[in-house]
Amino acid sequence: MQPFTGSFTQQEPIAEDAIAAAVEVLRSGRLHRYNTVADELGPVAELERAYAAYQGSDYCLACTSGGYAMATALRALGVGAGDRVLTNGFTLAPVPGAIAAVGAEAVLVEITPDLVLDLEDLEAKIQATHPKVLLLSNMRGHLCDMEALVALLDRYDVPLIEDCAHTMGASWNGRKSGSFGIAGCFSTQTYKHMNSGEGGLLTSDDPEFMARAIMLSGSYMMYERHGAAPPAEVFHDIRLDTPNMSGRMDNLRAAILLTQLGALETNIDRWNARHDLIADRMRGVAGVYVPHRPAQERYVGSSFQFLMPEADAKTMRAIVASAKELGVELKWFGADSPVGFTSNHQSWRYIPRQDLPKTDALLAGLLDMRIPLTFSLEDCAHVADILVHVVGQALQKGAA
Ligand SMILES: *Cc1c(COP(=O)(O)O)cnc(C)c1O
Repeated sequence: MQPFTGSFTQQEPIAEDAIAAAVEVLRSGRLHRYNTVADELGPVAELERAYAAYQGSDYCLACTSGGYAMATALRALGVGAGDRVLTNGFTLAPVPGAIAAVGAEAVLVEITPDLVLDLEDLEAKIQATHPKVLLLSNMRGHLCDMEALVALLDRYDVPLIEDCAHTMGASWNGRKSGSFGIAGCFSTQTYKHMNSGEGGLLTSDDPEFMARAIMLSGSYMMYERHGAAPPAEVFHDIRLDTPNMSGRMDNLRAAILLTQLGALETNIDRWNARHDLIADRMRGVAGVYVPHRPAQERYVGSSFQFLMPEADAKTMRAIVASAKELGVELKWFGADSPVGFTSNHQSWRYIPRQDLPKTDALLAGLLDMRIPLTFSLEDCAHVADILVHVVGQALQKGAA
């Protein structure tokens, strides 16, 4: 088997039109979002307007990171010390981190083999813990039945904040991910669907919520210079009642993102062509389960996951090792200690230890892979060949 030589962390270069827009900002010297001339709409405000339109939301706030967007959403909702916040047992560290940032306590909910929130366990935990909010993490781009989720949350009057770091551009039944609750939180960190190095976007249709979020982000009294903010009268009391916790986006990053937003839909098609090629191959392999994607879900295949429900730890390690030898980087979420971005809930020692037998059993057999757009379709076919080969080999050895 020929080794694969592509890099799983190499994103595409920033396009020339985005570079030109960035250079223009640099030449102007006006990098701060409120450093505008007369009533000019600066790049950050323009990005907020464009992203709100893309998302179909009334309001949008651009900020420093996806993690900051989540913590700000929690704060703007009034979540604080001692409150309980439900979230997925399978997610990445910025999510429990955002909950910790406001002094709240994370309560983890089990996931299903399709890597989405287990609605039965969610209901049980709502009844048992009386949470202030659900911070739903659409981890690795898998969406649960959003209508069923919203109906359940409505029954218990639990608000919803969506972590859409992996579902920017995704939708459920034609409705954009991030528009099902009070807020959607997005990341523009390098490994997400738009790349400004670091960055975050927070969307909402709720005027008071967004006014508080804008004040929290460090708006001073400049909220009228925003691109997709509620009217000035909404800020009347909120501006004096809300502390400044600086986390503004700057014009340089916004300029890069504005031109990327125009390419997002095309890139989603490119990601899905790559993802589906690999997923279709893997679906037929003995011993492998590829999470089901419901017809209602329009996903963004920027990464690929598969489960080996029967494999033991030794087999999992063997698969990761032989894939690596052939140049394919797989992340295993069942490892004892976190490697790279794979941390699982047992390594979040700042939250109370939680018993998640279903999630743990799934993570023990879960493998995860990035799909950068620098891979061609031929590259993806090569990667799929290697996956089929190493999985087959490891299962054969395990059975011997
Ligand atoms: C990347 C990511 C975030 C936000 O990350 P930032 O690095 O703070 O922008 C949130 N949730 C998940 C699941 C992520 O992978």
